[in-house]
Amino acid sequence: MAKYIFVTGGVMSSLGKGIISSSIGLILKSMGYKVSMLKFDPYLNVDAGSMNPYQHGEVFVTKDGGEVDLDIGHYERFLSEDLSKANNVTSGSIYKTIIEKERKGDYLGQTIQVVPHLTDEIILRIKELLKKDNSEIIVVEIGGTVGDIESLPFLEAASELKNEEKDVYFFHVTYVPYLDITEELKTKPTQHSVKELRSIGIYPDILFLRGKKEIKESEKDKLFRYLGIPKERIISVIDLNSHYFVPELLLNSKIKEILEELFDEKREIDISNWKNFTSKLNRGGKIKKVGILGKYIELKDAYISLKEALIHSQVETNTKIETIWISSEDLKNLEKNINEVDGIIIPGGFGKRGIEGMIEGAKICRLSKKPLLGICLGLQIIIIEFFRNVVGLNDSNSTEFDEKTSNPIIDLLSSQRDIKFLGGTMHLGESELIIKENTKAYQIYKRIFTKERHRHRYTFNLSYLDILEKNGMLISGRSRDGEVEIIELKDHPFYIGVQFHPEFSSKPLSQHPLFSSFINSL
Ligand code: GLN
Repeated sequence: MAKYIFVTGGVMSSLGKGIISSSIGLILKSMGYKVSMLKFDPYLNVDAGSMNPYQHGEVFVTKDGGEVDLDIGHYERFLSEDLSKANNVTSGSIYKTIIEKERKGDYLGQTIQVVPHLTDEIILRIKELLKKDNSEIIVVEIGGTVGDIESLPFLEAASELKNEEKDVYFFHVTYVPYLDITEELKTKPTQHSVKELRSIGIYPDILFLRGKKEIKESEKDKLFRYLGIPKERIISVIDLNSHYFVPELLLNSKIKEILEELFDEKREIDISNWKNFTSKLNRGGKIKKVGILGKYIELKDAYISLKEALIHSQVETNTKIETIWISSEDLKNLEKNINEVDGIIIPGGFGKRGIEGMIEGAKICRLSKKPLLGICLGLQIIIIEFFRNVVGLNDSNSTEFDEKTSNPIIDLLSSQRDIKFLGGTMHLGESELIIKENTKAYQIYKRIFTKERHRHRYTFNLSYLDILEKNGMLISGRSRDGEVEIIELKDHPFYIGVQFHPEFSSKPLSQHPLFSSFINSL
C-alpha cells in the first residue's frame, strides 16, 4: 500500500515549495523509504522545453531527455538520484493524452470532462510513476497557488484520491507576511488559503509557514484556533542563507516525529552524508570570483543548476565562490568586468542577443590566460572566436545567428535538418562521449568513456575540423558519431568548451569534476 503526500502552495508563488518537497523527499529517503517525486505543472505547455527562461526559469534536462521544470533539478540534487521525464507532468501533457485517446476512439460514446476524465488521468500518472519506480511513497508537488484556476483539476484529483486510498496526506506551504510598521506577522492570508483548500475537501496535515521571521507560539495558537491544525504541525520555515539547510531545519522542527505519527510507523534516520555536506557549506575558504557571462543576468533562475554546481564545487575545493553576473550586452564595460573576476563561464543559451559580447569575452580570456569554461553555446562561442581571430576567417559564425554566413563553422546537427516541430526535438539527454588520453579533459574525467546530458540543435561543422586542429585547438572529446564534444587549448591554464551541460548532473554528494577543476585553476 503506497503513501501519497501532496504538497500545495498558498498565498503566492515562489515560496520554495520545490525545496520543501525535495527536503521531505530526502528525509523520507533517509528514513529508509523508497520515494518517488512528481511535479505537476498546471500550464498548458506539453513540457517546459518551449518556455522562456525569463518567465519560467531554467529548463532542466533529465538523463532520458526530458525538458522539465527546474524543481526536478532540486529533487535530483536533494535525493542524489537521476530522475526522468515521467517525474514532471504538465496540464498540457495530460490534455494531449486525453485528446489522443478521444481521437483514437477510446472513450467512444462518452462526454469527456474535467471530472472524471482529466482527474482520472492525473491519478493514473501518479500511480504509473509509483509502479515504475517500485516506490512506497510518492511526494507530489502541485505547481501554482491554491485558488488558481489552472491548478484546480490537480487539487480535485488529490481530493478524489483521498477517498480511494488510505494513506493520503496534504502538506501546505504558505507565506506569512511581516508588517514592519506594527512589527507583526500576519496569518490571515494563510487562514484564507487553508479555507480555500477545505472547500475542495483537502485538510492539510502540516503547515509550512514561509517568511522572514520565526512564527511565535501566539500565532500558532491563532492558527490552531481557526484551522484546527495542531501547533506541533505548524512549522516555521524562515529564509536561510542556503536552501541546503532546509532538511535540517525541518528535522529540528520535529518533522521526523510528525511523519512517524502520520504514518503510525517508527523509523531510524541516517542523514549523515547530507550533514557532512552542509557542515562544509559555511566553512569559508579562499575567495574565488567567477563571472558568468550571459544575457539572462536579470533573472538568475535561468542558470540555477549552474549556480548550484558552483556551490557543490565550493565544498569540494574548499573555496568560497562569489558568482558575479556579467551582461554580455554591456560591451563598454566588458573588459573591466572580466578583469575583476578570477575566471569566466559562458553558459548555454539560444538566439542572437548578446552573442558578440560573449565572443569578445572569449577572446579576452584566451589572450589574457584567464580561465574560461564554455558550456554548450559557450563551446560554440569559443570556436567562433577562434576561427575569427586565430584562423583569420573574420565572417565565421553559427547559422543560428546568421543563416547566410559564408563560413558556417557552427551549423545544425545533421539529425536536425528535417525537423519541422520545435517541441522536444533538439538533441536531448544523455549520450556517450569518448575522451582522448593525454588531454586536460582526460585528467579531469580520468576515464575514456563517460556520459553527459545535452540540449542543443547546433554543433561544430566537421568540414572545418582540419583547420580547427591545425591551428592548435585540441579536440579532447567526441561523441560516438564523431561530433565535437570537448575542446581545449594546451598553452592555457584552463580554456575548455563542452557541447553538453555538466551542471545538470552535479549534485551536493557527487559534484561534477569539470567545475572543481575549473575552480582549482583560478
Ligand atoms: N543555441 C545553441 C544550440 O542550439 C546552444 C544551446 C545551448 O546552449 N543549450 O546548439
